[in-house]
Amino acid sequence: FRHGEASEVVVPTPNGDVYFGERHPIVVVAGPCSVENEAMIVETAKRVKAAGAQFLRGGAYKPRTSPYAFQGYGESALDLLAAAREATGLGIVTELMDAADLSAVARVADIIQIGARNMHNFSLLKKVGAQDKPVLLKRGMSATIDEWLMAAEYILASGNPNVILCERGIRTFDGKYARNTLDLSVLPVLRSLTHLPIMIDPSHGTGRSEYVPSMAMAAIAAGTDALMIEVHPNPAKALSDGPQSLTPDKFDRLVQEMSILGKVV
Ligand code: PEP
Ligand code: MN
Repeated sequence: FRHGEASEVVVPTPNGDVYFGERHPIVVVAGPCSVENEAMIVETAKRVKAAGAQFLRGGAYKPRTSPYAFQGYGESALDLLAAAREATGLGIVTELMDAADLSAVARVADIIQIGARNMHNFSLLKKVGAQDKPVLLKRGMSATIDEWLMAAEYILASGNPNVILCERGIRTFDGKYARNTLDLSVLPVLRSLTHLPIMIDPSHGTGRSEYVPSMAMAAIAAGTDALMIEVHPNPAKALSDGPQSLTPDKFDRLVQEMSILGKVV
């Protein structure tokens, strides 16, 4: 069981240091599932910044179930994220899938995301543990809490203390109405087990944009330190995860509602 104080993860961004942790306001990471082109990523970045987000998310390397589905634009998408960072000062969160891309991803990412499917990829965890960008570690879709915490230990033990845990829904017996089962009970459970900051991702957690606002509010009520929310300027045309993406207008409304419930930066 946990001993001592909650730790904080401080992430420098062009707009200033952002603090993740129990003693700090809720940090909001928002943006599209995939980076699609410069206009959409820069426009989305401006909109989510205006709404109150501190970080822009966007995938360059996408872990898709089907090898025939859109795989992300790779390095050229990293350049577009750099342009969005430059235009808005937002920090960037983007996923690393392959250790070979670590230096390219670390050049633009302020936080490196390890996706649910790579939570058990111990050699990748050791690699991100041996560099100094903060790491967002998503929970594997069938990972127990102990397995998730041990995955975090791989990063910590390799020398990187800046790890944020992200619950993104787990696989249960009923996937008919929601893509996953968002396990909000991790909030009180992890508080007793770890000092690390906790993020909730209601977008992948539900898979349906209409369920995202209530789950984001519930996560705040349960004490989350941060939220990740997918936002796309035209969800119907998104190259990935359109059904779970909020429009910028809906995201703006959600952040206003969230600010009533908890201190959102
Ligand atoms: C994502 O953040 O777009 C993503 C692929 O997430 P996960 O690893 O949780 O499925
Ligand atoms: Mn996605």
